[in-house]
Amino acid sequence: MTKDSPLLSGDKLALLEMLLMEEGLAAEAPQPKPVRPPGAVLPLSFSQERMWFMQQMQPDSGAYNVSIGARMKGELNLAALERAINDVVQRHEILRTRYEKVDGHPLPVIEETAVINLALFDYQHLPLTSREDELAQTVYDFVKRPFDLVNGPVMRAGVFRYSPQDHVTAVVAHHIATDAWSSFILVQEIAALYQSYNENKPIQLEPLPLQYFDFAIWQRDHFQGAVLQEQLGYWRTKLAGVPVLEMPADRPRPAIQTFNGNVVEHNLSPELLQKLHQLSKEQKVTPFMTMLTALEVLLYRYTRQEDFAVGVPIANRQLASTENLIGTFVNMLVLRADMTGEPTFMELLQRVQAATLEAYAHQDMPFEKLVAEMQLDRDMSHSPLFQIMLDYINVPSPKISMDGLEGDNVGVNRHSSKFDMGLIVVDTAQLQSLELEYNTDLFDEATAVRFLDNLETLLEAIVANPRTPIDELPVLAAAERQLVLARWNETDMAYPREKCLHQLIEAQAERTPGKTAVISQNQSITYQALNQRATQMAHELQKLGVGPDVIVGIFLERSIDMVVSLLAVLKAGGAYLPLDPAYPLDRLSYMLADAQSPVLITESSLNLTEALTKDLPQAIHVYLVDELPQNGRYHSNNGSARTATSQNLAYVIYTSGSTGKPKGVQIPHQAVVNFLLSMQKEPGLSAEDHLLSVTTLSFDIAVLELYLPLITGATVTLVPRTVAYDGHQLAQNIASSGATVMQATPVTWRMLLDAGWAGDPDLKILCGGEAMPPELARDLLPRCRELWNMYGPTETTVWSTTRQITASDDPITIGHPIANTQIYVLDKNKQPVPIGVVGDLYIGGDGLARNYRNRPELTAEKFLDDPFRPGSRMYSTGDLARYLANGEVDFLGRSDFQIKIRGFRVELGEIESALVAHTAVREAVTIVREDRPGDKRLVAYLILHEGVAQPD
Ligand code: AMP
Ligand code: MG
Repeated sequence: MTKDSPLLSGDKLALLEMLLMEEGLAAEAPQPKPVRPPGAVLPLSFSQERMWFMQQMQPDSGAYNVSIGARMKGELNLAALERAINDVVQRHEILRTRYEKVDGHPLPVIEETAVINLALFDYQHLPLTSREDELAQTVYDFVKRPFDLVNGPVMRAGVFRYSPQDHVTAVVAHHIATDAWSSFILVQEIAALYQSYNENKPIQLEPLPLQYFDFAIWQRDHFQGAVLQEQLGYWRTKLAGVPVLEMPADRPRPAIQTFNGNVVEHNLSPELLQKLHQLSKEQKVTPFMTMLTALEVLLYRYTRQEDFAVGVPIANRQLASTENLIGTFVNMLVLRADMTGEPTFMELLQRVQAATLEAYAHQDMPFEKLVAEMQLDRDMSHSPLFQIMLDYINVPSPKISMDGLEGDNVGVNRHSSKFDMGLIVVDTAQLQSLELEYNTDLFDEATAVRFLDNLETLLEAIVANPRTPIDELPVLAAAERQLVLARWNETDMAYPREKCLHQLIEAQAERTPGKTAVISQNQSITYQALNQRATQMAHELQKLGVGPDVIVGIFLERSIDMVVSLLAVLKAGGAYLPLDPAYPLDRLSYMLADAQSPVLITESSLNLTEALTKDLPQAIHVYLVDELPQNGRYHSNNGSARTATSQNLAYVIYTSGSTGKPKGVQIPHQAVVNFLLSMQKEPGLSAEDHLLSVTTLSFDIAVLELYLPLITGATVTLVPRTVAYDGHQLAQNIASSGATVMQATPVTWRMLLDAGWAGDPDLKILCGGEAMPPELARDLLPRCRELWNMYGPTETTVWSTTRQITASDDPITIGHPIANTQIYVLDKNKQPVPIGVVGDLYIGGDGLARNYRNRPELTAEKFLDDPFRPGSRMYSTGDLARYLANGEVDFLGRSDFQIKIRGFRVELGEIESALVAHTAVREAVTIVREDRPGDKRLVAYLILHEGVAQPD
């Protein structure tokens, strides 16, 4: 808004600045003249109209009460006080006015006289211990109680007696009759009159030049025609299309805004304030402008919005004759922020200065009139035009002292907030503080406290180096930083770091040799037999050259043989590469070539081996698992085959690549061991459990399904692919297998429910690979023993966070990091974002893959140095997330085009390169490019599962 604003000439600028700093001084403007035709219907001023309207909206709310209170020590003359108050009421007709409602419109009726009875609340009789609380509660009720605008009066006064020499005095009026400035006048006049009555020396206050309704008449008269058009023209242009500022809230916005609120306070150090003044002076701006700029930066960093508005109350007493009037004059200036172009703080400050001065030049426009004239699409869930207010108070509140009484101002928290948030900066010689009023429908107290803490951190950084780009200024206070970086990442758990996966299984086989380890269709195998067969096969594989970091392709259907083969590869010291026979052949041979596998384990019934291996660059030995002698001499010594260390690879899994070619994620044993031992604790698995495994080996979550039971002494039943894709058959298998645990993607769980699966009260459900829709959670929860949301990319070993879902979870989160794992939610400068704010999700810790096979650049791009744990790495997931205040991580989608099909990752680049080879999908991709996620899914599904990616 500022870049193309006309330059203000020096003089005008100086004048405006003066106006700004000493708001309220008289300017040359037509003076309202008290011309009031007798019997004429009086109009409400614009702001009165709004106050009235707000009260109609929420008749039971005290949000629009304005109060002033003081605790006074000394002898209080109640009679003198009551007379003084009533004199003031008599003097200002606005305090004697009530508002009848005629045809839905307010009609002000001025009473000739109105009597305000000074209410006395006496607490002397109460025990000292409860006095303070009782008093606070009554004062609160007194201040908060709504006014009856129809019958009046619109003001009340009370005295709360703590002891004979100790009282709280409070005067409360509806905002339709007063404002903050008016409170000053009120206090002064009451004090003067009190003294005169107390000392019996009658005084005459200076007569008022006019009454409030004279101003209202003048305002109505003034704001029409050319004046209105000029002002309106300016503001219309300035505020056209200003977006709602959506601060990250703790709860969703209710359809209708309430004024339920609260306030938190934060000490503002005089040193910091002094530095802010210094900076402002150097930059020739007011401290208010510096504070507004800082607030805008904080809001920007919380919301990432570059465009929003902040409301600023101004006293609006430019007319000298209104200076001593009680009434509602305060106006709201709407200052639009422009955060574009990555400015430094200093650059932004200049923008804010220009914008503010310009706005001040147009400050007469009543906010209410503006809202009405702009014909905004009135959404009742938030205040119009701006949602955050900044009130910079640099005029001290009046010292309340009345004839021998010394008073201390008492602020009463009215538990209301007119806006989403209102920042009140008190910058006076007596008091320096930050207060935040916040809507309690949206925000928790802790959130408000953190906001102020963060504002302070930001201000400190600004004064230290105002030339910092606004994106780089730190915004997290030490406590919050510690919480998100350290406290919520305290996941240390001891585990055998030197052990390999197969060693854990071997140890289990020794503990429970006779127990059934694996069941597949009509076959089963005990722990001992499994171990022995695998050992024998491992020896044969070693003879073929399998050893540490040698990758062996596994091209098998799901069977006991498959499990034996996996274990054999590991025992031989090698790592396995899953090759799902259902995948397109060219994709499989690409992986085999990229992995440089010297050995392929397959079975005779899969007679695709020839096609799979014919174009490979490397020589490959095809090992047929079904020709392994079922009887014969087993090598029983596990040890002889033990050649890998925990740093060697356990498996390589290919995931979709953005360049169109899948990339091999290389996972070492240590990562798998850490993962499994963490899972054993949470979600938890015991030897009594029976896990039904439905997932293809090419999806890394099969690691949990196969090995978690085998290191625990539980039993795993493999279901064939055809069953896994058929809801009815799967439901039957869950029942017939006696499963107590099953893991699957949300798609599979939905498929089961759609097939009429009734659930199983003994079943623990692990669901992951894609976001868990709330409806799915709702449908699954009553149908199972436990429901867990599991989150994690292949690159950090299967799952990196977990959360047991309960019926009250809203939103459904991905929970907290698993053992020895860190989660970071960072901004584009790799700085942690505040709680509640969306950022990029990074994962650190022991689950990290070694690298992408043969892809050093991609590895460097995705596996970064962990800035918070020197010497460690973190993986950049491409996921978006935020922290909830309770430390849970809320997944919010992707920052790129990656999508999921049945839990499988597909990157856009891959879809596109597939197109080059296949015309049938080409048209669909035009749609993909228009970024229609539903169509993207369809295309990706075709490519992955129907094999259409092969050339036609
Ligand atoms: P993959 O490497 O196939 O495991 O895919 C990892 C990606 O799947 C993550 O980066 C997320 O985008 C997504 N993902 C996995 N689990 C979840 C979950 N529980 N909720 C939301 N997204 C998930
Ligand atoms: Mg995963």
